[in-house]
Amino acid sequence: MTTVKDDKTEKETIKREFYHLIIDGEKMKGSSGETIKTYNPATGELVAEVAKASKEDAEKAIAAARHSFDHGKWKMYPVGRRAQVLNKIAAIMRSRFNELVELEILDTGKSLHAAQGQVTQAIEDFEFYAGAIVGHRGTVNNVPGQFHNYTEKEPIGVCAQIIPWNYPLMMAAWKVAPAIAVGCSVIVKPASLTPLTAIVLGEICLEAGVPAGVVNVIPGSGSDIGNYLVEHSQVDKVAFTGSTPIGKDIMGKASESLKRVTLELGGKSPSIVFSDADIDAAVDGSLFGIFYNSGQSCEARSRLYVQEDIYDEFMSKFVEKTKRLQLGNPFDKGTHVGAIIDQTQLDTINGYVQSAIKDGAEILAGGHKCSPKGYEKGFWFEPTIITNVNHDMNVVKEEIFGPVVVVMKFKDEKEAIKLANDTTFGLGSAVWSKDGARATRVANQIKAGIVMVNCPFSAFPGTPFGGYKQSGFGRELCIETLDLYSETKSILSYYGSRPLNPLGL
Ligand code: NAP
Repeated sequence: MTTVKDDKTEKETIKREFYHLIIDGEKMKGSSGETIKTYNPATGELVAEVAKASKEDAEKAIAAARHSFDHGKWKMYPVGRRAQVLNKIAAIMRSRFNELVELEILDTGKSLHAAQGQVTQAIEDFEFYAGAIVGHRGTVNNVPGQFHNYTEKEPIGVCAQIIPWNYPLMMAAWKVAPAIAVGCSVIVKPASLTPLTAIVLGEICLEAGVPAGVVNVIPGSGSDIGNYLVEHSQVDKVAFTGSTPIGKDIMGKASESLKRVTLELGGKSPSIVFSDADIDAAVDGSLFGIFYNSGQSCEARSRLYVQEDIYDEFMSKFVEKTKRLQLGNPFDKGTHVGAIIDQTQLDTINGYVQSAIKDGAEILAGGHKCSPKGYEKGFWFEPTIITNVNHDMNVVKEEIFGPVVVVMKFKDEKEAIKLANDTTFGLGSAVWSKDGARATRVANQIKAGIVMVNCPFSAFPGTPFGGYKQSGFGRELCIETLDLYSETKSILSYYGSRPLNPLGL
């Protein structure tokens, strides 16, 4: 794993005032002349203006991607050459590490340590797929006698890649790297709130030698150009990360032309702490599990179940450490929890907490909007622990997407599994126990795509990431993602000396 040292401070700004669309290898202003303004959620200040794509621009991007795929050279390159370009993308990203970190912080309000980790992972995604693609190939299959059968993995074609605001660069890397490794052409639609790093990634792809039209980046409204991409007949696949309701809408629309679809959606991930757990590790892991990225993570462990005989000890440590979490300047190394993405999200979080209080829940930490000193105009919410809840409450059932965790006691393994699985989602989950047999037994019974056993982290390049149930389908970040950007072609040949005459005529 790479470690990238960084001593960036807020004063050494690298950001530009204006960012362009990237279509067919060109940086351009949108045809409508409209722009998106992006704001720093920590301060409420304007960060930059970004060209806003219209349907006309989306049409140009689709045509460019289509042309580069149908008639271009990228998919024809020897695989080693594509791998070389992916490694070059990673190298340029590394050389522009500070810029990417700064933009990610300014656009999202996330803390320095979170942004550094995510930019590092985005770089490593390109390196991972540069390696993985070399081993991605078809098979030779057993067939009778004088037949011969082999399969080829062919790139699927033109892929629309729709990105959320919570991990803008990392989600873009999760999608762009495997797609172009296989030989696809892509149109990236970043979230309107956070388009900057995806644009810079598009520029870097060009600089690294990705041919024009293979990577296009078009910020713009989801309901307008996002939807346009989904419905367009010349788009072969949609890879979407975002909320479950929009995922359902996309799946319905993509079915019209039977586009390939992968959906990485929301979650309400459980974390189960057994009495035989290392309590300190479980406390620290649970803090990270919910408060990392200000709780704005699809796999945030937002439902915490603690076995009754250690409940008091666990909670006293968990509450005490939650109250010590630092909010404030996201560029400060000492800041643990960054800002909330915008006023709407802040109000949503607050609404959930207030409704839980009205329903009789108890707040053990946080519970309010807040204003760290010097950041009064930004969007902030206190790290919040809620107890005295039940599974009928919205705060337990629905994804809040903020620094809010609900905590319940459980009696035994059976009850813990039942509670953990009592959700429409199935993305992440965690088990804390020193008993390996128990941890394995429980991991096997949890209906979720990811189980973290005594581990605060959900994924590294190479580990599959994706959901069960209404958390979506398809796996990113792993070898099998390459298959999701490929079609398998079966070639069956006959080499017998006698001509075949199956109809006997
Ligand atoms: P969102 O509102 O669903 O938006 C996601 C993306 O879809 C944005 O680019 C948005 O564009 C676009 N979009 C909106 N409406 C669309 C439409 N009708 N057709 C096509 N595209 C459309 O989600 P978000 O609020 O940005 O992100 C938070 C959600 O993402 C959470 O639910 C979280 O759990 C989920 N998430 C899941 C994963 C995972 O791997 N499972 C990872 C990260 C996040 P605009 O920005 O212009 O609206």
